[in-house]
Amino acid sequence: MELKHVSKYYGEGKNKTAANKDMNFEIEEKEFTVIVGPSGAGKSTVLNLLGGMDSPDEGEIIIDGKNIATYKPKELTKYRREDVGFIFQNYNLIPNLSAKENVEMATEIANNPLNPVEILESVGLGHRLDNFPAQLSGGEQQRVAIARAIATQPKLLLCDEPTGALDYETGKRVLSELHAAIKNYNATVIVITHNRAIADMADRIIDIQDASVRNMEVNPQPSPIE
Ligand code: ADP
Ligand code: ADP
Repeated sequence: MELKHVSKYYGEGKNKTAANKDMNFEIEEKEFTVIVGPSGAGKSTVLNLLGGMDSPDEGEIIIDGKNIATYKPKELTKYRREDVGFIFQNYNLIPNLSAKENVEMATEIANNPLNPVEILESVGLGHRLDNFPAQLSGGEQQRVAIARAIATQPKLLLCDEPTGALDYETGKRVLSELHAAIKNYNATVIVITHNRAIADMADRIIDIQDASVRNMEVNPQPSPIE
C-alpha cells in the first residue's frame, strides 16, 4: 500500500485544522507495521482513512493497485466489509450478544469466513463461547474482538491501541494471540500503540508528529513476543 500526499482536514474557516497533512508512506504486503506518536498527532485519522471509514481531502491511498480515495460510499463499504478487520482499544463488542454470537455476526456477511467456534478456541476462549462481554475480563473481551476481526480473514487488519485498556501482562498475552493470528492468516497488520514491546516486534515503525510522518524505519530484527 502507498499513501501519496494525503491530507485530511477537520473544521471550517479559522477552525480548520489538518489532522493529516501531506502524509506519505509505503507498506509491503503482509508486513506488521506499528504507528507511534503523541496524542493528537493524527494516528487514528490515518488508520480510519486506510480502513475506508473516511475519505481524505487530498492525495491518493493505493491499496492493491487501487486508489481507495476515489471510492464512492458503496465501494468503500464493500472494501471495509471484504478486506478490512478492525480492533479497537475499547473492544466494541455488542453487549447483548455472547462471545460466539459476536464472532458469528461478523462472519455472516463475509465471503470466506472461518468457523466462529474454532477461531474462539484458537485464542483460548473455547470455554467462554456463551458468555456475554460483561462476564469476561478485559483480556478475554479483547481476545473476542481479535477473533471477530480475523474470522473474516481480512487482508488488512487495523488495530487502534489494542492493549491500551489492559494491564501490561494481559496486554502482552493479547499481543501474542494477535501475533499468532497474523502468522496463521497472513494479513497485513497496522497497529497504533504506545506499547514498546509491540514496537519491538514490528517490521516497520512509522512515527507521526504534527499530522505528518516524521520518521519511518524498517526494523532489521523484529523480536517475537515471548
Ligand atoms: P491521534 O490518534 O494521534 O491521537 P487523531 O487522528 O485522533 O490523533 O487526531 C488528530 C487531530 O484531528 C486532533 O487535533 C483531533 O482533535 C482532530 N480530530 C480527529 N478527529 C476529529 C473529528 N472527527 N472532528 C474534529 N477534529 C478531529
Ligand atoms: P485476565 O487476566 O484475562 O484479564 P482476570 O484475572 O481479569 O483475567 O479475570 C479472571 C477470570 O474472572 C476471567 O476468567 C473472567 O471471566 C472472570 N471475570 C473477570 N471480570 C469479571 C466480571 N466483571 N464479571 C464476571 N466475571 C469476571
